[in-house]
Amino acid sequence: MSLGSIAIKNATIITFDPDERIIDVGDIGIAGSEIVYVGGADQAPEAETTIDGEGCVVLPGFVNAHTHLAMTLMRGFADDMRVQEWLEQKIWPTEERLEKADVYWGAMLGIAEMIRSGTTCFNDMYWAFDETLRAVIESGIRACPSGVLIGVHPQAEEHLAQAIDFVRRCQEDGHERVVPMFGPHAPYTCPDAMLKRVRAQAQELGVGIHIHLSETKQEVEDSLREHGKTPVERVRDLGLFDVHVIAPHCVHPTDSDIDVLAEYGVGVAHNPGSNMKLGSGIAPVPEMRSRGVIVGIGTDGAASNNNLDMLEEARLAALLHKVNTGDPTVISAYEALAMATRESARALEIFDQVGSIEVGKRADVIVIDLKQPHLSPRHNAVSHIVYAARASDVTATIVHGELLMLDGKLTTLNEEEIIREASGRAARLVR
Ligand SMILES: [Zn+2]
Repeated sequence: MSLGSIAIKNATIITFDPDERIIDVGDIGIAGSEIVYVGGADQAPEAETTIDGEGCVVLPGFVNAHTHLAMTLMRGFADDMRVQEWLEQKIWPTEERLEKADVYWGAMLGIAEMIRSGTTCFNDMYWAFDETLRAVIESGIRACPSGVLIGVHPQAEEHLAQAIDFVRRCQEDGHERVVPMFGPHAPYTCPDAMLKRVRAQAQELGVGIHIHLSETKQEVEDSLREHGKTPVERVRDLGLFDVHVIAPHCVHPTDSDIDVLAEYGVGVAHNPGSNMKLGSGIAPVPEMRSRGVIVGIGTDGAASNNNLDMLEEARLAALLHKVNTGDPTVISAYEALAMATRESARALEIFDQVGSIEVGKRADVIVIDLKQPHLSPRHNAVSHIVYAARASDVTATIVHGELLMLDGKLTTLNEEEIIREASGRAARLVR
């Protein structure tokens, strides 16, 4: 549903603007893809569509800083396993059977779930990335897609050529909602030569690199033994940090690794649900943040989470670091919400476009209805969103000025068809 203008009236607005404004009762005006008004009530310009925000909260859409979208097809199929066995016995053999159309329908399933739960942008790394791109374009969501590159894969050369071609095509086609990246899987699956070539290509094409870093203790120990360097030091020395890098996990950075991540402006994607479920450990998020590392939040793939719900992920981030440090003041509700929105956008270097509600930014905003028993009484809207709200409390999702969900109804996707197709394909994959 393409609409020229939207007004959201009489809502509480959590802006995440430079003044950290929270407007108790105010309006937002949207024209085309842009936010044109943020301020007092009854002052938004007249619009073709008006959303009554009374009793609701409006905030920037969630930015999922790390996922493998089409892994929705493997949701709940292999749980409670050690990460290496999980990958080698379950995930990788299943992925060998993936067809292109599987990725498309798995991506569509994930996008439907994300729009429903208020996610307006996601950072992806997966096979058959053209299919994910097709789902992004058709659905209206925003994305930073990358093709996964595994340097030790027999077809690594072919995959790198495809990834370069993909970035070039994305740039030529000029999709406004798409920021392509390169996706070398991790230092332990990519030899030095491959990482250097990826860096050179990223530099030439002016795009970022999405690479898992220091997810497990084993990975760091192996890297020290084989290379004499931590994974963070190794990719720094290969020049990767000379371009923009978004690094999921960083569960086991050393003390000096944290300085390196801060110094080079590396964006970290914190994935508390996946790290907990796979037993990977607890990322030192309060420490990284206090030392200037940009830390956003991601869900990781639905095979290790098992959903794409950023509200839940923000809550996990707020709770996990309290129990880990024994300090209930670390990662406040406001900080957790900022990490799921503004900080994720900063970590992806798309904060000039999205991640806050400010005039001139792209209109990626969501509405959460607080007029419900589990969200009453209303002492503090931020607290309610992080500690009490559910994904189903999101009533409207707007991306690039387009209403993708209104009153709980998706406008661009046929959910019945998506669930049917994805379920049929998932059954074939695991047979
Ligand atoms: Zn991942």
